Amino acid sequence: MTVVRGASPPEDPPRTGSIVDLEERIASLDPEVRAAAERILAVTTTVGRLDPPTEMHEWIVKQFGSLEAVLSQKVVRVTNLVTFEGALFNDLRARRPAEVKGGADARETIEKARGDPFCHPETGTPQDDFGRIRGEHGITASNIAKYDGYHGVLIFDEHDPLVPMSADVLRDRLATARRWAQAAHEADPAARYYFLLWNCLWRAGGSIVHGHMQMTATRGMHYPKVEQLRRQALAYDERHQRDYFDDLWSVHDALGLGVQREGARIFASLTPVKESELVILGRPGEDEVALAPAIAHAIAGFRSRGVVAYNLALYLSPLSPDGNDWRRFPPQARLVDRGDPANKTSDIGAMELYAASVVAADPFRVVEALQA
Ligand SMILES: [Zn+2]
Repeated sequence: MTVVRGASPPEDPPRTGSIVDLEERIASLDPEVRAAAERILAVTTTVGRLDPPTEMHEWIVKQFGSLEAVLSQKVVRVTNLVTFEGALFNDLRARRPAEVKGGADARETIEKARGDPFCHPETGTPQDDFGRIRGEHGITASNIAKYDGYHGVLIFDEHDPLVPMSADVLRDRLATARRWAQAAHEADPAARYYFLLWNCLWRAGGSIVHGHMQMTATRGMHYPKVEQLRRQALAYDERHQRDYFDDLWSVHDALGLGVQREGARIFASLTPVKESELVILGRPGEDEVALAPAIAHAIAGFRSRGVVAYNLALYLSPLSPDGNDWRRFPPQARLVDRGDPANKTSDIGAMELYAASVVAADPFRVVEALQA
């Protein structure tokens, strides 16, 4: 086959929306929300071309579905001008059929780990100096190798982290974790910055298979990424007299990337930290327990797409006033897919650590799992 340089890229199959059309979609928004999109996002689209030898054609068709898909590849680059988060979406990666991920292997490893110390936390794990906090669906422990002065674990009553988690169960677990944070804060009033995370399975950094979240309460100021976002949002408010989080939501929602759940706003991020990132925004003044139905819905959406390894993190205002302005800072959760646990290649490389995230999952496909 002769490769004609400069030929137009092949026609895309009809879809309800695609990251490759992002520039056009933003241009066709209503003026007010388009202005918000232009305040927050810089979007560029470029085409990368290549010329494979005939000997490669069969392999390319097998890997990518067609030769044409590879000859010219659309790359959409999105930069958040407020936070300087950024992603590079490659149409070629995005159009690969969704693969069934290594759920079967993960399940076997989860079953083999039954009987681990988290299955009997009272004898298998240490407690904090203020004791244990007990909920209906979990109990806290003190993390044995701490990364902060207060570093606890919420051990699920279920061993298997992939058992579907209802909004009620998640609400109980978030409330139990918050009670842990309040106990830490009572023990040390300077430890007012609460952070909650969940590394689900080893691929996402979890060293223990048994379902568990981790909590820290830190001092001085919030963790740098949280404090940075607070400052960036305030600067945006000052510059534009607009609420950053409301604008961010409006833009994603107007593009068809948003879903609401019991008052919380969920969107498939246009600048995901890695694959399929979902952001869940509450309302300023609420706590994260109010986000439980939305977070449970987001996790269920991940599971319906075969995702088994993921990170969840909560960004929250401090447990007591610190003299800074947190009034406009909504409680928020972030959830990201870490890929197939059977894959030996890390999903994170130098691009993600030092430049911008390289992303395959199209946010317009990601949000469909939440709309179903
Ligand atoms: Zn266990």
